[in-house]
Amino acid sequence: QIELDGISKHYGDLEAVSGVSTTVEDGELLCLLGPSGCGKSTTLRMIGGLEMPTEGTVRLNGEDITNVPPYDRDTSIVFQNWELFPHKSVLENVAFGLKMSDIGTEERHERAEELLERVEMSGYGSHDPTDLSGGQKQRVALARSLAVDPSVLLLDEPLSNLDKRLREQMEIHLKEIHEEFDKTFIYVTHNQDEAFTLADRIGIMNNGQLVQVGDPMAVYQNPTNRFTEEFLGDTN
Ligand code: ATP
Ligand code: MG
Repeated sequence: QIELDGISKHYGDLEAVSGVSTTVEDGELLCLLGPSGCGKSTTLRMIGGLEMPTEGTVRLNGEDITNVPPYDRDTSIVFQNWELFPHKSVLENVAFGLKMSDIGTEERHERAEELLERVEMSGYGSHDPTDLSGGQKQRVALARSLAVDPSVLLLDEPLSNLDKRLREQMEIHLKEIHEEFDKTFIYVTHNQDEAFTLADRIGIMNNGQLVQVGDPMAVYQNPTNRFTEEFLGDTN
């Protein structure tokens, strides 16, 4: 369980995130949805420990992790730009996530191979990441994050560089992965279709604030504020 308790982030005079509070239950897929600049990435980065909140507390299973560095918390981030290591093979990229754990090279490679299978990339282990398509890179990045076996996976617009067809295919795949791995996913997007396809719950953000959180249908049918109503009324 992840608990955000009034987290804010100031950059000089700018309040990028303002008093965000919510709880994400184990195994849940929460989408943070909102327009560009509303503070989605900053919020995600505070959950992952890449930014320190100016105010507020982040808790994981009741424990205050606000000041715990990223590599010491049980979270892992997937970005939109893949960020695979170009000089390592696909298999090495995935195995890198397993490096911290106390297992030998052979077993690491076996486990990495299994993860590649789970993301439907078996047979690509020896390939160079630069030879992969956008969707394939994203699958490998996902496998690498899963290799760390975090309880919370943080995804920042992981599909936004893909064309529509590939994105829709990956949405279905991500949903399967989420169900299969039974992890908590916090998924940032500005794309409504994506949010409504994937989310167990949706959090709408505007101007650094979390203006509404709830079941997708409830949010869609009963917007509690003018922003949500207008934002969901627009097609993107
Ligand atoms: P997008 O959909 O475009 O990715 P976002 O919702 O993820 O937007 P953030 O990246 O969280 O938005 O940014 C929120 C606000 O904080 C923006 O006004 C941005 O310019 C500002 N901001 C983000 N990071 C920094 C930083 N390191 N220094 C100063 N301002 C920042
Ligand atoms: Mg962002």
